[in-house]
Amino acid sequence: MNEIKFSNLGLKETLLKSITDLGFEEPSQIQAEAIPVAIEGYDLIGQAQTGTGKTAAFGCGIINNISKKDGLSAIILAPTRELAIQVNDELKRLAKYDELGILPIYGGDPITNQIRALKRNINIVVGTPGRVLDHIKRGTIKLDKIKFLVLDEADEMLNMGFIDDLEDIIKKLPSERQTLLFSATMPDQIKRLAKRYMKDDAKHIAIKKTSMTVSKISQSFYEVSHKTRFEALCRVLDFDTPSSAIIFCRTKKGVDELVEGMQSRGYIVEGMHGDMSQAHRLRTLKKFKEGSLNFLVATDVAARGIDVEGITHVINYDLPQDVESYVHRIGRTGRANREGTAYSLVSPKEYSMLKQIKTVTKGDITRRPIPTVNDIFASKSKTILKDVSDTINDSDYDKFLPVAQELSEKFDSVEIIAALIKSKFNSDLMDTYSSDVLEAPKSEDVRLFLSVGRRDGINPKSLVNFIKDTARVKPSSIGDIDILENFSFVNIAPDVKDKVINKCMGLKLNKRKVNIEVANRNKKRR
Ligand code: ADP
Ligand code: MG
Repeated sequence: MNEIKFSNLGLKETLLKSITDLGFEEPSQIQAEAIPVAIEGYDLIGQAQTGTGKTAAFGCGIINNISKKDGLSAIILAPTRELAIQVNDELKRLAKYDELGILPIYGGDPITNQIRALKRNINIVVGTPGRVLDHIKRGTIKLDKIKFLVLDEADEMLNMGFIDDLEDIIKKLPSERQTLLFSATMPDQIKRLAKRYMKDDAKHIAIKKTSMTVSKISQSFYEVSHKTRFEALCRVLDFDTPSSAIIFCRTKKGVDELVEGMQSRGYIVEGMHGDMSQAHRLRTLKKFKEGSLNFLVATDVAARGIDVEGITHVINYDLPQDVESYVHRIGRTGRANREGTAYSLVSPKEYSMLKQIKTVTKGDITRRPIPTVNDIFASKSKTILKDVSDTINDSDYDKFLPVAQELSEKFDSVEIIAALIKSKFNSDLMDTYSSDVLEAPKSEDVRLFLSVGRRDGINPKSLVNFIKDTARVKPSSIGDIDILENFSFVNIAPDVKDKVINKCMGLKLNKRKVNIEVANRNKKRR
């Protein structure tokens, strides 16, 4: 990790503001290195593992140098529709304060809609090569003002056989443009492409793959969905009752929300992130070190350099953005050769990151079932048994003897004990959980692509209602939902897939006809 801040990279104020809104605390390595080079105007070949933030790396680089009145200034090519949509969405958020027009363009969507949309003031087109070429040939995408070309996930585009389309497009572009090429790997074919179409003084930035091993730390993960993540964490904490745990979140907002949720459930916890003053952070850290706080919720940056003895658990409330951060996170426990425990809460969307972590760390990360209420009950009972025997051994209860005497004259001793335990349990368990087992997300859920999005005024609730009422499926068959500007993705149980597609296809939701397809899933996580 590096110590560089976004504010040191030469970015304009509007971008710094939107980056703050996104909750990014500090640039990833590829961002720290690529952004200044891109802003200076050099051609750039950037290589870094998946999930290292390449989108914002080129996104910041070009948005920084484009303004609303520049006309169509940039073309970004991505291998698949899903990736184009993802990139489009992230760029929109980055360009929020510059109010740039950004449009996704890909096959499968009616071309007439795209032609109409292209007539608006569009500054950046994000598209798949085939469809973009189609528009160029029709003259509906004009290239005379193009200053930037981005080839995103270039290795995948070549794998998918887009080389001819790419070359066709590149040859039509103004030659004084700036070209940015990003890829996770650098096969020869890409090197040749770069040599042929990029300037001689192009900069190469390659971020090394991290490979680290983490012994001594037992690593496991729990499968959660967006909905059950918080409850899963509570169950794990109630079952394990760690005496000292750091819980990691990716963003500052995530930290704030989690701390609030945990505090309202009675956990002794405080948060730590970059927006808090140094003095405040030191105070929190002191409490944590002294043991008057059981839990510390932190971002990766805020936790850097924290060296606290005796942390028993590191919990990844969500997975970090790169493998290196994961290794840094879990290295907080298991210090001085003591055993440590690392848990990760992983949603289906995070599986590919988990896989990557497993590969790079060569770590054995085992799946664990989320504790049921019965499990928690059994674990708490054990703790009580131990507490009571310890207290009896220490004979440290004299002043309670008179009350005990009085109780034993009125009631049976087993009844008294059970009632005492109940009064202890009730407050911290019985009211909290509604069902014994916390349903795990079905990892084999099918991901559906729907042609309605935020622009149609839909939200997760209205989308669930639409699917549930139209296809008559149980809400439990509907999983994670991602609503983007123009589209949505919905995970559903495989047994109702056909029903949902058949019943919902072609109907209108908030005046827009809904088109549904099974989404191309294998591309990447988000
Ligand atoms: P890549 O293209 O390298 O595979 P992405 O650009 O898709 O990676 O980024 C992966 C995820 O990390 C996205 O959800 C993105 O919003 C997030 N991300 C990017 N940069 C940062 C950052 N500096 N801090 C925190 N999260 C980030
Ligand atoms: Mg990418």
